[in-house]
Amino acid sequence: MYPRSFHYHRASSLDEAVTMLGQLGESAKVLAGGQSLIPLLKLRFANPEHLVDLNFIPATSYIRAEEAALHFGALRFGAMTRHAEIERSAMARTIPLLHDCAAGIADVQVRNRGTIGGSLAEADPSGDWANALITLDTTVHCLGSGGARSLSLQDFITDAYTTALAPNELVTEVEVKIPPKGSGGAYVAFKRSAPVYPSASAAVQLTMSGEVCQEAAIALGCVGLTAIRATAAETALRGKILSGDGSDKTITAAAEAARAAADPQPDMRGSAEYKRELVVALVKRAIQIAIRRARGEQVEGAHLYA
Ligand SMILES: Cc1cc2nc3c(=O)[nH]c(=O)nc-3n(C[C@H](O)[C@H](O)[C@H](O)COP(=O)(O)OP(=O)(O)OC[C@H]3O[C@@H](n4cnc5c(N)ncnc54)[C@H](O)[C@@H]3O)c2cc1C
Repeated sequence: MYPRSFHYHRASSLDEAVTMLGQLGESAKVLAGGQSLIPLLKLRFANPEHLVDLNFIPATSYIRAEEAALHFGALRFGAMTRHAEIERSAMARTIPLLHDCAAGIADVQVRNRGTIGGSLAEADPSGDWANALITLDTTVHCLGSGGARSLSLQDFITDAYTTALAPNELVTEVEVKIPPKGSGGAYVAFKRSAPVYPSASAAVQLTMSGEVCQEAAIALGCVGLTAIRATAAETALRGKILSGDGSDKTITAAAEAARAAADPQPDMRGSAEYKRELVVALVKRAIQIAIRRARGEQVEGAHLYA
C-alpha cells in the first residue's frame, strides 16, 4: 500500500529540525533511517501530515571516544549513526556487546539505513538497542524547543513505543560509559531468520575480579513491554565465583531467576513458555561469553538463528 500523502521537509541543522517540528505541530514526524517509520506509513498505521527529514543534517553520524579523568571515558554516537557503521567500528568493538548488538540487527539493508537514535526513539519492545544499552551506563541526549537535556536510558524509555521525548524534541546523541577494567559483556538474541526481530534476547555485562563477579547487569528483550532488568539474576551472580563452564550452578541459578523475571506474550514467534525457555538458554550463553571476555579472550558472540 502507498502511504497517505504528506509534506516533505528537509532540515539542514538539528536546530532547524526542532523549529520545524514546533511550527508544524503534532501532525509532523521526523524521518531517520525510515526502517520503522516507512513500513508504518505504508501500512497506514502512521499518517503524519509532515515529515521532517534528518538525513541531510551534517555531523549527526559519528562515533567518538571521550577521555575522562574520573571514570573510564565514554563512547558517543550521533543519533543518525547507522547500525552498520557501529557494526564496522573498531572503537565500538572496545565494548563487545555493542558490536554483538549492531551486527545482529536484521539484515544488511536494514543495518545500512537504520539508526541508533531512531531505534531508541521508536522504543519497540523487540528492538535490540534498548535492551543491550540498558546493561551499560547509557545517557540519551536530546534537543527541543526548551533547549538540550540528557536522560538516562532508564528514564528515556517509559513504555512500549513510548519515550520521554516531547513532540518537538529530538534525540541528538547516545553516550555510553566505557565499563571498568575486568569487565566483559555479551548480547545474544534468538531469531527465526536474519530479517526478523528476535524471539527473545539477553544482554549481560559483568565486572570480574579474578573469578569473582563484582558487578552484574542482565537485561531481557522481547519478553515484556520494555527491556526487563533481571535484578534477582544479577544478585545471584554478585560476589560469587564463576567458573563459566556449562555445569556452573551459580550461572544456572541466575538463568532460572531470569526466567522468573520474564513476562512474555505468546505470538507468532512462540508461546510464552517457549520464550521463557529461550531466556534461560540465552542468559546462560551470554554470561559464559561475558566471563571469557572479562578474562580478555576474543570471543565472537553471534546471534542464534532457528
Ligand atoms: C525488515 C526489518 C527488520 C528489522 N529487524 C530489526 C531487528 O532485528 N532488531 C532491531 O532492533 N530493529 C530491527 N528493525 C528496525 C530497525 O532497527 C530500525 O532502524 C529502527 O527501529 C528505527 O530506526 P530508524 O533510523 O530506521 O528510524 P525511523 O524509522 O526513521 O524512525 C522511527 C521512529 O523514531 C522517530 N525518530 C527517529 N529518529 C529520531 C531522532 N533522532 N529523534 C527523535 N525521534 C526520532 C521517528 O519519528 C519515528 O517515529 C527492523 C526493520 C525492518 C524494516
